[in-house]
Amino acid sequence: MLDIAFEAPKPKVIAGARSDWELVIGLEVHAQIASKAKLFSGASTEFGAEPNSNVAFVDAAMPGMLPVINEYCVAQAVRTGLGLRATINLRSAFDRKNYFYPDLPQGYQISQLYAPIVGEGEVIVEMGPGVARRVRIERIHMEQDAGKSIHDLDPLMSFVDLNRTGVALMEIVSRPDIRGPEEAAAYVGKLRQIMRYLGTCDGNMQNGNLRADVNVSICRPGDYEKYQATGDHSVLGTRCEIKNMNSLRFIQQAIEFEARRQIAIVEDGGKIVQETRLYDPDRGETRSMRSKEEAHDYRYFPCPDLLPLEIEQAWVDDIVATMPELPDAKKARFVADYGMTDYDASVLTAETENAAFFEAVAQGRDGKQAANWVINELFGRLNKEGLTVATTPVSAAQLGGVLDLIAKGAISGKMAKDLFELLWSRERGGDPAEVAARHGMQQVTDTGAIEAAVDDVIAANPDQVEKARQNPKLAGWFVGQVLKATGGKANPATVNALVAQKLGL
Ligand code: ADP
Ligand code: MG
Repeated sequence: MLDIAFEAPKPKVIAGARSDWELVIGLEVHAQIASKAKLFSGASTEFGAEPNSNVAFVDAAMPGMLPVINEYCVAQAVRTGLGLRATINLRSAFDRKNYFYPDLPQGYQISQLYAPIVGEGEVIVEMGPGVARRVRIERIHMEQDAGKSIHDLDPLMSFVDLNRTGVALMEIVSRPDIRGPEEAAAYVGKLRQIMRYLGTCDGNMQNGNLRADVNVSICRPGDYEKYQATGDHSVLGTRCEIKNMNSLRFIQQAIEFEARRQIAIVEDGGKIVQETRLYDPDRGETRSMRSKEEAHDYRYFPCPDLLPLEIEQAWVDDIVATMPELPDAKKARFVADYGMTDYDASVLTAETENAAFFEAVAQGRDGKQAANWVINELFGRLNKEGLTVATTPVSAAQLGGVLDLIAKGAISGKMAKDLFELLWSRERGGDPAEVAARHGMQQVTDTGAIEAAVDDVIAANPDQVEKARQNPKLAGWFVGQVLKATGGKANPATVNALVAQKLGL
């Protein structure tokens, strides 16, 4: 286990008319398990397929059909649990959550209420260098997704697409440990990053593959510490749940609005009623969907079609053995091994593919310089052109080749940028050394040639020589003249040294 020392970020404080208020936030994140097949059927999970083309009989709830658990989905949930340093429950069980909806042909969703596959874990959410929140995970359970009702295709009819019906979801439930809108967004971002490293959820929020129910309450300063000390929820305020958020920006806006709404009610002598709300991004406000009294009674009961799920420790151990290095560990290693800044390490480890690309470039080279080139030249360019390391025109080997030429003093930094440009466009796929040679990119390191150029400039400018001897800062002028005279090909370090030597500085 990795232990990084950090201090907790300050909770967000909102000044009301009467007093200060703090926020308490807990999230229930629904993450679609990355799997080709659904949780209880062999139907495909492909996104954007022809409506109702990926529907097995069991998804459509045909009479007599029985669910069969997809072992791969279970492995993915376990893998996610391990990534969140959570307890894996060797015995879990499925329950039916009953409700009626046109896009839910079974009339119930198979979920895990009483015995989830994953128990308590944690996520470290960094808010700045050395500042992080430890957010406790309460549980992760597996469940089926519902289908999709489509109301905007016809003025009179609604349509149902069952492609999503039965797709495997993980519901990741946090404790109410999050203390502000930015932290909530950062928490979802961190979950997404970890799951993308693990390959257990693609984290595509636009497609709805990662969405969050956000629980928000307010309390007075000091109350949260009382809750922490005693574990007693009743010292916290009544919470409202904002459903189905699939944008980090909207999550922040919704929390901000919701907190202020609750503060206004409480300061006005009112009471918060526990309810489910929806965020309307156009109006920037949350609206009541249903209150606790109108809440569904799901009549949960153990699913009679499925035996309790028993997995073996040896099977879990096999998954443990294939766990990749996770973001926190990778980032700490990048800072330690390559001497890069915390910020650069964050950028390079945001996606595991980016980190791998960087390491391929940095292997056996100057890590700091490699980081610089990968972030500023390569990533900058990729972002601009909507590309990724998977589609980059300049490979890690090529970029490494460019850095080697700089390190050998064969080309200057300026030439390296031109060379990168050539490899990106006209000389795509080319060998850096060969392309540099063919385009006459050759830094003059031959001291004799540079020395002659320095002598020429000094001989031609006796006045400047006098001035420079009075004021050594003027040596830079000579360096500039020599570089100009050599067509920018002279190694600046060599020129500097020779100018200083010849001027007797
Ligand atoms: P329930 O038993 O109704 O499902 P839980 O205690 O399991 O409620 O909490 C559901 C979610 O609400 C969790 O993510 C939890 O962190 C969050 N939550 C609980 N109490 C609060 C609170 N006072 N303020 C904000 N979020 C809360
Ligand atoms: Mg609960």
